[in-house]
Amino acid sequence: MNILVTNDDGVHAPGIVALADALRLVGTVTVVAPDRERSAVGHALTLHHPLRVTEIMAGIFAVDGTPTDCVNLGIHILLTETPDIVVSGVNRGGNLGDDITYSGTVSAALEATLMGIPAIAVSLATNGHGSNYRAAAAFAAQLAREVLDRGLPRDTFLNVNVPDLPAEELAGPVITSQGKRDYGGDIVTKVDPRGRNYYWIGGNEPVFRDIEGTDFHAVKRGRISVTPLHLGLTNYASLSILQSWDLSACRPEAGQPSGALL
Ligand code: MN
Repeated sequence: MNILVTNDDGVHAPGIVALADALRLVGTVTVVAPDRERSAVGHALTLHHPLRVTEIMAGIFAVDGTPTDCVNLGIHILLTETPDIVVSGVNRGGNLGDDITYSGTVSAALEATLMGIPAIAVSLATNGHGSNYRAAAAFAAQLAREVLDRGLPRDTFLNVNVPDLPAEELAGPVITSQGKRDYGGDIVTKVDPRGRNYYWIGGNEPVFRDIEGTDFHAVKRGRISVTPLHLGLTNYASLSILQSWDLSACRPEAGQPSGALL
């Protein structure tokens, strides 16, 4: 089995080292990861400057780009064969609920899914630096075996969040749905030495709703959360509502201001 491993915390992060080690028991591992931390870059793709790749050890490549760049370069350039699975992580910090579209870790798995390759994103739900990357990586390797044996449903990848606990304290995995986060009040405003305001987004810990069946609910109770995700963002429940709107008046010419455009 050929396994492509990536992350968004950078090629030297403890989570990706643990993940690559665990997956070497499952197959041939190639690591293609950002050369520095690129957390919260989401699904960004680098289009406006060239990318450089450095093979820092045999089978371990550092890229001066995003996780999505890494998946593209790994699959199309660096690996001689299409990987059987892409595993992204182990991220420092959970990727739960509404936060997942910010995540480079999750987006790397999403990118692989777009290419028709099975993928798993793995995150250690910790508020600090994280202690138990090896336990999370060991679970990810076992789950990767299951995915390789069974395949995944079409257009589906797995978002895994593991509590930051030693292996013997982890409760068994549970299949969950994506949870909900409460937004607001998490921008910190301060004054710099020259008297100008500056702003820091995400200054406080995110607050999730403790809804049974969700990723957050599971992780909060020491359980490993496995959420099947898909790519389509269409809200099918609202299609009929939008179709009932009369949009015929919203033609482009109706909204044009009179007179020449400057
Ligand atoms: Mn990260």
